[in-house]
Amino acid sequence: MKNKGVNRRDFLRLSAAAGAGVVLTPGAAASTLSNPTISQKSDFPKRTLGRTGLQLPILSMGVMRADNPNVVRAAYNAGLTHFDTAHGYQNGRNEEMLGNFFKDKPRDSFTITTKGGFQYPLKDSFETEYTELIDLSLKRLQMDHVDIFLAHGLQSKESFDDITNPRILNVLKKFKAEGKTRFIGLSTHALKPAQIDAAIETGVYDVILISYNFKLDNLKETQEAIERGVKAGIGFIAMKTMTGAVEDAEGKKKINAQACLKWAWENKNIATIIPGFSNFDELDECLAAGNNPSLTAPEKNYLAMLCNQEMLFCQRRGKREKECPEHLPIPDLMRAYMYAYGYKNANLSKDTLMELDLQNVANLCKSCSGDCKVKCTSGFDVARKIAAVTPVLQVPFILFT
Ligand code: SF4
Repeated sequence: MKNKGVNRRDFLRLSAAAGAGVVLTPGAAASTLSNPTISQKSDFPKRTLGRTGLQLPILSMGVMRADNPNVVRAAYNAGLTHFDTAHGYQNGRNEEMLGNFFKDKPRDSFTITTKGGFQYPLKDSFETEYTELIDLSLKRLQMDHVDIFLAHGLQSKESFDDITNPRILNVLKKFKAEGKTRFIGLSTHALKPAQIDAAIETGVYDVILISYNFKLDNLKETQEAIERGVKAGIGFIAMKTMTGAVEDAEGKKKINAQACLKWAWENKNIATIIPGFSNFDELDECLAAGNNPSLTAPEKNYLAMLCNQEMLFCQRRGKREKECPEHLPIPDLMRAYMYAYGYKNANLSKDTLMELDLQNVANLCKSCSGDCKVKCTSGFDVARKIAAVTPVLQVPFILFT
Protein backbone atom coordinates (compact mmCIF):
# COMPACT_ATOMS: atom_id res chain seq x y z
CA MET A 1 0.00 0.00 0.00
CA LYS A 2 1.31 3.42 -0.91
CA ASN A 3 1.95 5.97 1.78
CA LYS A 4 -0.54 8.76 1.18
CA GLY A 5 -0.06 10.68 4.41
CA VAL A 6 0.95 14.34 4.51
CA ASN A 7 4.50 14.35 3.30
CA ARG A 8 6.77 16.82 5.09
CA ARG A 9 8.94 17.32 2.01
CA ASP A 10 5.87 18.11 -0.12
CA PHE A 11 4.62 20.51 2.55
CA LEU A 12 7.93 22.36 2.58
CA ARG A 13 7.98 22.54 -1.23
CA LEU A 14 4.48 23.99 -1.20
CA SER A 15 5.38 26.51 1.51
CA ALA A 16 8.36 27.66 -0.52
CA ALA A 17 6.16 27.95 -3.61
CA ALA A 18 3.68 30.10 -1.68
CA GLY A 19 6.34 32.74 -1.24
CA ALA A 20 7.84 32.40 -4.68
CA GLY A 21 4.97 34.06 -6.47
CA VAL A 22 4.92 37.24 -4.46
CA VAL A 23 8.53 38.28 -4.13
CA LEU A 24 10.19 40.41 -6.73
CA THR A 25 13.67 38.98 -6.74
CA PRO A 26 16.61 41.22 -7.55
CA GLY A 27 17.47 38.83 -10.37
CA ALA A 28 14.09 39.25 -12.01
CA ALA A 29 14.32 43.03 -11.91
CA ALA A 30 17.83 43.02 -13.30
CA SER A 31 16.70 40.79 -16.14
CA THR A 32 14.11 43.32 -17.21
CA LEU A 33 16.31 46.31 -16.97
CA SER A 34 18.92 44.64 -19.07
CA ASN A 35 16.45 43.32 -21.58
CA PRO A 36 15.71 45.55 -24.52
CA THR A 37 12.63 43.66 -25.70
CA ILE A 38 10.57 44.75 -22.73
CA SER A 39 11.32 48.44 -23.09
CA GLN A 40 10.29 48.47 -26.77
CA LYS A 41 6.73 48.55 -27.99
CA SER A 42 6.07 45.59 -30.27
CA ASP A 43 3.66 45.51 -33.15
CA PHE A 44 2.22 42.04 -32.68
CA PRO A 45 -0.08 40.51 -35.29
CA LYS A 46 -3.70 41.19 -34.45
CA ARG A 47 -6.78 39.03 -34.84
CA THR A 48 -10.48 39.81 -34.57
CA LEU A 49 -12.31 38.36 -31.58
CA GLY A 50 -15.44 37.08 -33.28
CA ARG A 51 -18.48 39.33 -33.42
CA THR A 52 -17.07 41.61 -30.71
CA GLY A 53 -14.98 43.13 -33.48
CA LEU A 54 -12.19 43.71 -30.96
CA GLN A 55 -8.80 43.66 -32.65
CA LEU A 56 -6.49 41.98 -30.18
CA PRO A 57 -2.77 41.30 -30.37
CA ILE A 58 -2.26 37.53 -30.56
CA LEU A 59 -0.47 37.82 -27.20
CA SER A 60 -2.44 38.97 -24.15
CA MET A 61 -1.74 38.77 -20.43
CA GLY A 62 -3.35 36.28 -18.08
CA VAL A 63 -2.94 38.29 -14.90
CA MET A 64 -4.05 35.47 -12.60
CA ARG A 65 -0.64 34.74 -11.04
CA ALA A 66 0.85 38.22 -11.30
CA ASP A 67 1.09 40.32 -8.19
CA ASN A 68 3.67 42.84 -9.32
CA PRO A 69 2.19 45.86 -11.12
CA ASN A 70 5.56 46.47 -12.74
CA VAL A 71 5.10 43.27 -14.74
CA VAL A 72 1.72 44.58 -15.93
CA ARG A 73 3.38 47.88 -16.78
CA ALA A 74 6.12 46.13 -18.75
CA ALA A 75 3.52 44.11 -20.67
CA TYR A 76 1.46 47.23 -21.44
CA ASN A 77 4.53 49.20 -22.48
CA ALA A 78 5.60 46.32 -24.72
CA GLY A 79 2.36 46.53 -26.70
CA LEU A 80 -0.01 44.11 -25.01
CA THR A 81 -3.49 45.55 -24.80
CA HIS A 82 -5.70 42.79 -23.41
CA PHE A 83 -5.59 41.74 -19.76
CA ASP A 84 -7.49 38.84 -18.21
CA THR A 85 -8.40 38.68 -14.53
CA ALA A 86 -11.24 37.26 -12.42
CA HIS A 87 -13.27 38.24 -9.40
CA GLY A 88 -11.74 35.44 -7.37
CA TYR A 89 -8.07 35.78 -8.29
CA GLN A 90 -5.96 36.52 -5.24
CA ASN A 91 -9.14 37.13 -3.32
CA GLY A 92 -9.82 40.35 -5.22
CA ARG A 93 -6.31 41.79 -5.07
CA ASN A 94 -5.68 40.92 -8.71
CA GLU A 95 -8.54 43.17 -9.87
CA GLU A 96 -7.44 45.88 -7.43
CA MET A 97 -3.91 45.81 -8.81
CA LEU A 98 -5.22 46.24 -12.36
CA GLY A 99 -7.55 49.02 -11.22
CA ASN A 100 -4.67 50.94 -9.67
CA PHE A 101 -2.51 50.43 -12.72
CA PHE A 102 -5.08 51.39 -15.36
CA LYS A 103 -6.79 54.27 -13.53
CA ASP A 104 -4.73 56.91 -15.32
CA LYS A 105 -4.45 55.13 -18.68
CA PRO A 106 -6.64 56.05 -21.69
CA ARG A 107 -9.63 53.70 -21.59
CA ASP A 108 -9.27 52.90 -25.29
CA SER A 109 -5.64 51.81 -24.87
CA PHE A 110 -6.52 48.47 -23.25
CA THR A 111 -9.30 45.91 -22.87
CA ILE A 112 -10.14 43.93 -19.76
CA THR A 113 -11.79 40.58 -19.17
CA THR A 114 -13.01 39.67 -15.73
CA LYS A 115 -14.92 36.57 -14.71
CA GLY A 116 -17.35 35.66 -11.99
CA GLY A 117 -18.06 32.23 -10.58
CA PHE A 118 -21.19 30.99 -8.82
CA GLN A 119 -22.58 27.88 -7.20
CA TYR A 120 -24.49 25.48 -9.42
CA PRO A 121 -27.33 24.49 -9.11
CA LEU A 122 -28.26 28.11 -8.67
CA LYS A 123 -29.39 29.50 -5.35
CA ASP A 124 -32.57 31.60 -5.09
CA SER A 125 -30.34 34.61 -4.48
CA PHE A 126 -28.18 34.01 -7.59
CA GLU A 127 -29.27 37.11 -9.54
CA THR A 128 -28.77 39.45 -6.57
CA GLU A 129 -25.43 37.96 -5.57
CA TYR A 130 -24.09 37.85 -9.13
CA THR A 131 -25.00 41.50 -9.64
CA GLU A 132 -23.19 42.37 -6.40
CA LEU A 133 -20.22 40.39 -7.70
CA ILE A 134 -19.86 42.33 -10.95
CA ASP A 135 -20.44 45.62 -9.13
CA LEU A 136 -17.65 44.81 -6.70
CA SER A 137 -15.36 43.80 -9.58
CA LEU A 138 -15.99 47.15 -11.30
CA LYS A 139 -15.31 48.97 -8.02
CA ARG A 140 -12.01 47.14 -7.56
CA LEU A 141 -11.07 47.81 -11.19
CA GLN A 142 -12.08 51.49 -10.81
CA MET A 143 -13.99 51.23 -14.11
CA ASP A 144 -17.61 51.77 -15.08
CA HIS A 145 -17.46 48.78 -17.42
CA VAL A 146 -15.28 45.85 -18.44
CA ASP A 147 -14.89 44.83 -22.06
CA ILE A 148 -15.65 41.16 -21.50
CA PHE A 149 -17.39 39.48 -18.58
CA LEU A 150 -17.27 35.68 -18.44
CA ALA A 151 -19.28 33.21 -16.42
CA HIS A 152 -16.30 31.52 -14.76
CA GLY A 153 -15.67 27.82 -15.08
CA LEU A 154 -18.89 26.42 -16.55
CA GLN A 155 -18.24 22.71 -16.50
CA SER A 156 -20.41 21.00 -13.98
CA LYS A 157 -22.99 19.21 -16.07
CA GLU A 158 -22.91 16.43 -18.66
CA SER A 159 -26.04 17.98 -20.19
CA PHE A 160 -24.44 21.46 -20.23
CA ASP A 161 -27.56 22.83 -18.59
CA ASP A 162 -25.44 25.44 -16.84
CA ILE A 163 -24.43 26.87 -20.23
CA THR A 164 -28.04 27.00 -21.41
CA ASN A 165 -29.66 27.91 -18.09
CA PRO A 166 -32.04 30.84 -18.78
CA ARG A 167 -31.37 32.48 -15.42
CA ILE A 168 -27.64 32.63 -16.17
CA LEU A 169 -28.22 33.83 -19.72
CA ASN A 170 -30.66 36.50 -18.55
CA VAL A 171 -28.36 37.93 -15.91
CA LEU A 172 -25.44 38.04 -18.35
CA LYS A 173 -27.62 39.80 -20.95
CA LYS A 174 -28.73 42.25 -18.26
CA PHE A 175 -25.09 43.12 -17.42
CA LYS A 176 -24.52 43.83 -21.10
CA ALA A 177 -27.72 45.86 -21.51
CA GLU A 178 -26.83 47.95 -18.45
CA GLY A 179 -23.39 48.70 -19.88
CA LYS A 180 -21.47 46.94 -17.12
CA THR A 181 -19.74 44.90 -19.80
CA ARG A 182 -19.51 45.31 -23.55
CA PHE A 183 -19.47 41.57 -24.26
CA ILE A 184 -20.34 38.37 -22.41
CA GLY A 185 -19.08 34.83 -22.52
CA LEU A 186 -17.97 31.81 -20.55
CA SER A 187 -14.77 30.12 -19.50
CA THR A 188 -14.28 26.40 -19.08
CA HIS A 189 -11.61 23.87 -18.18
CA ALA A 190 -13.83 20.91 -18.99
CA LEU A 191 -12.33 20.07 -22.41
CA LYS A 192 -15.70 19.13 -23.87
CA PRO A 193 -16.26 20.29 -27.45
CA ALA A 194 -20.01 19.79 -26.99
CA GLN A 195 -19.96 22.73 -24.57
CA ILE A 196 -19.10 24.96 -27.50
CA ASP A 197 -22.10 23.65 -29.44
CA ALA A 198 -24.33 24.28 -26.43
CA ALA A 199 -23.00 27.86 -26.25
CA ILE A 200 -23.56 28.37 -30.00
CA GLU A 201 -27.12 27.15 -29.62
CA THR A 202 -27.96 29.89 -27.10
CA GLY A 203 -26.87 32.68 -29.45
CA VAL A 204 -25.92 34.67 -26.34
CA TYR A 205 -22.22 34.14 -25.74
CA ASP A 206 -19.83 36.47 -27.58
CA VAL A 207 -16.61 34.95 -26.24
CA ILE A 208 -15.35 31.58 -25.00
CA LEU A 209 -12.16 31.20 -22.99
CA ILE A 210 -11.03 27.63 -23.44
CA SER A 211 -8.15 25.33 -22.47
CA TYR A 212 -6.26 24.71 -25.69
CA ASN A 213 -2.90 23.01 -26.06
CA PHE A 214 -0.96 20.43 -28.03
CA LYS A 215 -1.63 17.72 -25.42
CA LEU A 216 -5.40 17.60 -25.86
CA ASP A 217 -6.44 14.04 -26.59
CA ASN A 218 -9.60 15.30 -28.29
CA LEU A 219 -7.79 17.96 -30.31
CA LYS A 220 -9.51 17.33 -33.63
CA GLU A 221 -13.00 17.47 -32.10
CA THR A 222 -12.03 20.60 -30.16
CA GLN A 223 -10.70 22.32 -33.27
CA GLU A 224 -13.83 21.41 -35.23
CA ALA A 225 -16.08 22.79 -32.47
CA ILE A 226 -14.03 26.01 -32.34
CA GLU A 227 -14.45 26.31 -36.10
CA ARG A 228 -18.24 25.98 -35.70
CA GLY A 229 -18.15 28.59 -32.94
CA VAL A 230 -16.17 31.04 -35.06
CA LYS A 231 -18.65 30.59 -37.91
CA ALA A 232 -21.41 31.46 -35.45
CA GLY A 233 -19.57 34.66 -34.49
CA ILE A 234 -18.00 33.57 -31.20
CA GLY A 235 -14.51 34.82 -30.41
CA PHE A 236 -12.08 32.31 -28.87
CA ILE A 237 -9.35 33.05 -26.34
CA ALA A 238 -6.95 30.27 -25.34
CA MET A 239 -5.58 29.44 -21.90
CA LYS A 240 -3.56 26.54 -20.47
CA THR A 241 -1.50 26.55 -23.64
CA MET A 242 1.62 25.55 -21.67
CA THR A 243 -0.04 22.50 -20.12
CA GLY A 244 1.23 23.21 -16.63
CA ALA A 245 4.43 25.16 -17.35
CA VAL A 246 6.68 22.11 -17.00
CA GLU A 247 7.42 19.26 -19.36
CA ASP A 248 7.80 16.43 -16.85
CA ALA A 249 5.47 14.78 -14.37
CA GLU A 250 7.71 15.73 -11.45
CA GLY A 251 7.45 19.45 -12.20
CA LYS A 252 11.22 19.91 -12.46
CA LYS A 253 11.83 20.92 -16.07
CA LYS A 254 10.36 24.13 -17.45
CA ILE A 255 8.50 23.73 -20.71
CA ASN A 256 9.48 25.59 -23.88
CA ALA A 257 6.83 28.30 -23.56
CA GLN A 258 7.56 29.78 -26.98
CA ALA A 259 6.91 26.48 -28.74
CA CYS A 260 3.59 26.08 -26.88
CA LEU A 261 2.40 29.58 -27.77
CA LYS A 262 3.44 29.29 -31.40
CA TRP A 263 1.67 25.96 -31.69
CA ALA A 264 -1.60 27.49 -30.44
CA TRP A 265 -1.27 30.47 -32.78
CA GLU A 266 -1.17 28.08 -35.73
CA ASN A 267 -4.94 27.83 -35.24
CA LYS A 268 -6.17 31.06 -36.78
CA ASN A 269 -9.49 30.63 -34.98
CA ILE A 270 -7.76 31.43 -31.70
CA ALA A 271 -7.86 35.21 -31.53
CA THR A 272 -5.46 35.63 -28.64
CA ILE A 273 -3.73 33.66 -25.88
CA ILE A 274 -3.50 34.67 -22.21
CA PRO A 275 -0.30 33.09 -20.86
CA GLY A 276 -0.15 33.63 -17.11
CA PHE A 277 3.30 35.16 -16.80
CA SER A 278 4.08 36.67 -13.45
CA ASN A 279 7.66 37.84 -13.74
CA PHE A 280 9.85 39.63 -16.26
CA ASP A 281 11.65 36.57 -17.51
CA GLU A 282 8.38 34.81 -18.34
CA LEU A 283 7.08 37.98 -20.00
CA ASP A 284 10.23 38.24 -22.05
CA GLU A 285 9.79 34.69 -23.31
CA CYS A 286 6.20 35.42 -24.34
CA LEU A 287 7.27 38.62 -26.10
CA ALA A 288 9.96 36.76 -28.00
CA ALA A 289 7.32 34.30 -29.21
CA GLY A 290 4.87 37.06 -30.11
CA ASN A 291 7.49 38.88 -32.11
CA ASN A 292 8.36 35.75 -34.06
CA PRO A 293 5.22 33.60 -33.96
CA SER A 294 5.98 30.98 -36.62
CA LEU A 295 6.47 27.48 -35.22
CA THR A 296 9.83 26.08 -36.28
CA ALA A 297 10.53 22.48 -37.25
CA PRO A 298 12.63 21.80 -34.10
CA GLU A 299 9.83 23.25 -31.96
CA LYS A 300 7.32 21.02 -33.73
CA ASN A 301 9.50 17.97 -33.06
CA TYR A 302 9.92 18.98 -29.43
CA LEU A 303 6.14 19.17 -28.92
CA ALA A 304 5.62 15.88 -30.75
CA MET A 305 8.07 14.26 -28.36
CA LEU A 306 6.18 15.67 -25.35
CA CYS A 307 2.90 14.28 -26.66
CA ASN A 308 4.06 10.83 -25.65
CA GLN A 309 5.09 11.53 -22.10
CA GLU A 310 3.27 12.08 -18.83
CA MET A 311 3.02 15.73 -17.87
CA LEU A 312 0.86 17.69 -15.44
CA PHE A 313 -2.11 18.61 -17.63
CA CYS A 314 -5.21 16.63 -16.65
CA GLN A 315 -7.34 15.45 -19.57
CA ARG A 316 -10.21 14.12 -17.50
CA ARG A 317 -13.62 15.53 -18.28
CA GLY A 318 -16.42 16.66 -16.04
CA LYS A 319 -16.63 17.43 -12.39
CA ARG A 320 -17.29 14.50 -10.11
CA GLU A 321 -15.93 11.05 -10.87
CA LYS A 322 -18.43 8.22 -11.13
CA GLU A 323 -15.87 5.49 -10.47
CA CYS A 324 -14.53 7.26 -7.39
CA PRO A 325 -16.54 6.11 -4.33
CA GLU A 326 -15.98 9.50 -2.68
CA HIS A 327 -17.08 11.31 -5.89
CA LEU A 328 -14.06 13.56 -5.73
CA PRO A 329 -13.66 16.34 -8.30
CA ILE A 330 -10.55 14.75 -9.79
CA PRO A 331 -9.94 17.19 -12.72
CA ASP A 332 -10.08 20.16 -10.34
CA LEU A 333 -7.80 18.41 -7.85
CA MET A 334 -5.35 17.63 -10.66
CA ARG A 335 -5.50 21.28 -11.74
CA ALA A 336 -4.71 22.35 -8.17
CA TYR A 337 -1.76 19.91 -8.27
CA MET A 338 -0.59 21.47 -11.55
CA TYR A 339 -0.76 24.96 -10.02
CA ALA A 340 1.31 23.87 -7.01
CA TYR A 341 3.92 21.67 -8.68
CA GLY A 342 3.96 23.08 -12.24
CA TYR A 343 3.29 26.78 -11.77
CA LYS A 344 4.88 26.63 -8.28
CA ASN A 345 2.05 28.79 -7.03
CA ALA A 346 0.65 27.50 -3.76
CA ASN A 347 -1.69 30.46 -3.30
CA LEU A 348 -3.44 29.68 -6.58
CA SER A 349 -3.52 25.99 -5.75
CA LYS A 350 -5.04 26.77 -2.35
CA ASP A 351 -7.64 29.08 -3.94
CA THR A 352 -8.62 26.26 -6.28
CA LEU A 353 -8.88 23.71 -3.48
CA MET A 354 -10.93 26.06 -1.31
CA GLU A 355 -13.46 26.53 -4.12
CA LEU A 356 -13.99 22.76 -4.17
CA ASP A 357 -15.42 22.81 -0.66
CA LEU A 358 -13.78 19.47 0.18
CA GLN A 359 -15.12 17.78 3.27
CA ASN A 360 -12.96 15.93 5.78
CA VAL A 361 -9.75 16.63 3.87
CA ALA A 362 -7.51 14.66 6.20
CA ASN A 363 -9.40 11.48 5.35
CA LEU A 364 -9.72 11.80 1.56
CA CYS A 365 -9.21 8.48 -0.22
CA LYS A 366 -9.17 6.51 3.01
CA SER A 367 -12.14 4.43 1.83
CA CYS A 368 -10.05 2.89 -0.97
CA SER A 369 -7.24 1.67 1.29
CA GLY A 370 -4.61 2.34 -1.36
CA ASP A 371 -6.51 0.81 -4.27
CA CYS A 372 -7.55 3.84 -6.34
CA LYS A 373 -10.50 3.09 -8.62
CA VAL A 374 -9.70 5.94 -11.04
CA LYS A 375 -7.80 4.61 -14.03
CA CYS A 376 -6.15 7.63 -15.63
CA THR A 377 -5.40 7.53 -19.37
CA SER A 378 -2.58 10.06 -18.87
CA GLY A 379 -0.92 7.71 -16.36
CA PHE A 380 -1.51 9.94 -13.32
CA ASP A 381 -1.32 8.31 -9.92
CA VAL A 382 -4.43 10.21 -8.91
CA ALA A 383 -4.51 9.25 -5.23
CA ARG A 384 -0.83 10.13 -4.77
CA LYS A 385 -1.37 13.54 -6.34
CA ILE A 386 -4.38 14.20 -4.13
CA ALA A 387 -2.29 13.32 -1.08
CA ALA A 388 0.51 15.58 -2.29
CA VAL A 389 -1.63 18.62 -3.03
CA THR A 390 -4.12 18.75 -0.16
CA PRO A 391 -1.43 19.85 2.35
CA VAL A 392 -1.46 23.18 0.49
CA LEU A 393 -4.59 23.97 2.48
CA GLN A 394 -2.36 24.19 5.55
CA VAL A 395 0.00 26.72 3.95
CA PRO A 396 -0.77 30.27 5.03
CA PHE A 397 -1.56 32.72 2.26
CA ILE A 398 1.28 35.15 1.69
CA LEU A 399 -0.17 38.63 1.73
CA PHE A 400 0.86 41.28 -0.75
CA THR A 401 2.71 44.34 0.32
S1 SF4 B 1 -8.26 6.53 -3.98
FE1 SF4 B 1 -8.98 7.08 -6.07
S2 SF4 B 1 -11.05 6.19 -6.23
FE2 SF4 B 1 -10.51 6.15 -4.05
S3 SF4 B 1 -11.34 8.04 -3.19
FE3 SF4 B 1 -9.24 8.55 -3.81
S4 SF4 B 1 -9.39 9.29 -5.94
FE4 SF4 B 1 -11.36 8.29 -5.44
